[in-house]
Parts: sequence; structure tokens; C-alpha cells
Amino acid sequence: MIIEDIIGYPLRDFPITAMRDNLLQWWILSGRRDFPWRETNDPFKVLIAEILLHRTKAEQIVPLYQPFLNQYPDIHSVAKSSPDELAKLLRSAGLNWRWKLLHSMAVNIETKFNGQIPRSFEELTSLPGVSHYIASAVRCFAFGYPDVLLDTNTVRVAGRLLKLPIRDASRRSKLFREVLEKFIDSKHPREFNFALIDLAAAICRPRSPAHKDCPVSRYCTFYQEASDEGQNSEKDKLPLKGDQQRLSITEAG
Ligand code: SF4
Repeated sequence: MIIEDIIGYPLRDFPITAMRDNLLQWWILSGRRDFPWRETNDPFKVLIAEILLHRTKAEQIVPLYQPFLNQYPDIHSVAKSSPDELAKLLRSAGLNWRWKLLHSMAVNIETKFNGQIPRSFEELTSLPGVSHYIASAVRCFAFGYPDVLLDTNTVRVAGRLLKLPIRDASRRSKLFREVLEKFIDSKHPREFNFALIDLAAAICRPRSPAHKDCPVSRYCTFYQEASDEGQNSEKDKLPLKGDQQRLSITEAG
């Protein structure tokens, strides 16, 4: 099934530019969460952060990240690490079992890629512990490629904006990939992906999303329909976040 069949109008008629601009404006002005791994585009540091962050809360990784880089400043030092010492360091975040993955990933990078973090999706995903998400995150945050990041959080926001059915498998779905590829700001992919992640974490939460504080509520089908059904009488009080290119979904249909 194609997107148009589900949402009932061509995706190009969704006000993508306006939605994206408001998202980025919100993120720059107030939505940005600061994490040490966001201050660098060093491929090694980005890769380590993404491996540590996999299925782990960011707050858990903050105290571990800099000590890790102090002890293991490059891929060579991880490849040569002693399992005991690496596991001991990771234990502070409850991730001691992840030492094997990190070690074998580093050895692979040393032997297959001459110690350089590869850029291609295929090469990155050939490494132990590097999922599609991690490969895309490294490509985007380290190398600036406009790769989209599909996980339960980004899929939730995209799904709600277009009122697409969200399932467990959605983060692997072609349909959601296509939507996010249309949404991403190809000139500022890092910022767009950070903004989407931060919106999902702080505003478009799984439960009790903060629609009233949401910078893209005006474009959100889920919210509009809930408002139309009288489930949210605050809709008309929402501030317009100035954008002349805005179209309503009704106008677009
Ligand atoms: S309006 Fe609500 S449901 Fe829609 S994107 Fe914002 S927080 Fe999520």
C-alpha cells in the first residue's frame, strides 16, 4: 500500500517545508537537549556514542561517555583493550556485556578498514553491533549524509503527523522510511534528526503527548482529528508559528 492510499491525499500536498521549519525553529530556540556526543562529528566518537546509546537511555550514557573516550581515545585502543578493563568501565552503566561487541567491532575496523570508520551503509552494517539505525546515525552525525533514523520514537512522530497506523514493525517499514526521507532537511540533516529525536522525547511522548507545546501541532493530523472530535478544546488557542507556506490538509486534499 502506498502512502497516498492511507492518508487520502498526495504526500507532496502535506506542508512539509512549513512543518520542518517550525520543528527546526523550536529546536534551535528551546528544544535542544545537550549531550556531549552531539558536540562532535568525529566518526569514532559518534560511533562509540551510538553503540553505547543503543536501547539505553541517554542519561545513563552521559557519565560514562567522557571516561570511555579518556581511556579509549581511538579505534586502535578499543581493539587492543583488555576485556576485563573494558567490561569494568561499561559496568557503571550496566553495559558490561557490551564489551564483546565493541571489541570485535574495533578489531573489524582495524583489519578490514585500516582503522578508519567506513562511510558506506553496507560497510558500516557489516560491523558487529552496527544496526541500520546506528549506521545511519554515524553517516548523518559524523559525515553529514541526509540519512533518516527510524526507531520507535521517530516513527511515532511521523505516524502521528500523518495519522499512519504505527506498529512494532514500522521502524523497519519502507513506508515510514519514505515519509521520513520526504521530511528530512537535506541541507541540515544533523539538526533535523536531533530535532525529531528531541521532539519525540520531550513533547510527542508515547503517553500524554504535550500537544499544546508542540511546534508542529498545526500540521498534525492526529491532533487535528482529536481536536475536531472535541477531545482537545485548546486547539484554537495555539499560537501560529509564522510560516507563509503553510497549507492545511483540507486545502491540500
Ligand atoms: S501535535 Fe501532539 S501528536 Fe502531533 S506531533 Fe505534536 S505532540 Fe505529537
